[in-house]
Amino acid sequence: MPDATSKRLKENLDRVNDRLVEACRRAGRARSEVTLVAVTKTVSTEMACGLVELGVHDLGENRPQELWRKTAELPKSVRWHLIGHLQRNKIERTLPVVERIHSVDSIRLLEAIETEAAKQNHQIGVFLEVNASGEASKQGFDPSNLPDVIPAAAAFKHVRVEGLMTMAPLQDAEACRPTFAKLRNLRDELAPRLEAPHRLVHLSMGMSNDFEVAVEEGATFVRLGSVLFEGVKE
Ligand SMILES: *Cc1c(COP(=O)(O)O)cnc(C)c1O
Repeated sequence: MPDATSKRLKENLDRVNDRLVEACRRAGRARSEVTLVAVTKTVSTEMACGLVELGVHDLGENRPQELWRKTAELPKSVRWHLIGHLQRNKIERTLPVVERIHSVDSIRLLEAIETEAAKQNHQIGVFLEVNASGEASKQGFDPSNLPDVIPAAAAFKHVRVEGLMTMAPLQDAEACRPTFAKLRNLRDELAPRLEAPHRLVHLSMGMSNDFEVAVEEGATFVRLGSVLFEGVKE
């Protein structure tokens, strides 16, 4: 990677970290409560590798095939997060290479992941994707259907439900606050009803244009792409 490229990438990352520190401070939270997942879907493996060299160890992709490709080319130490739709025929190849799946959007998918994880004798943490904003175009559970997951999940031995994920509407950040607060309230409501080994603690919410508000509302994972790559030339 040319020096100018890695210099700009580092500046962007430092700035994002400063903004995360500030948002945590405003919310009275520790910076260590929030994991930055760098979303590399729009950049090359080399650029993703540049981030790893700068100390980012959590990377996210929204397409399974692209995730498989990058996992093969990047250091094994990277923790990969699938943040986009997972088709059932891609579970088998995805499970062994991901740390977490943020985007489980149906009970059918959850059950299929359990079945495959049992076959592979593999434990996997997942987040349930919630359509908290109620937009017709969005994937995810309708909040009113979330309680149905509890009896289904009770029997699972390989899949642990560990959090909720949402995508806010594309609006200015402040307008996203009610969506993030809603996800937090849903987590607080459901958490006591899900028994171990499930542990509904995490909130995966906040993207480039709204992550500070998401942190103020309790995000434990933010998924950032464009803000990291602004002005960085491949
Ligand atoms: C692309 C993507 C992101 C990152 O979006 P930016 O606005 O580029 O930060 C986060 N979450 C999901 C699910 C995505 O697909």
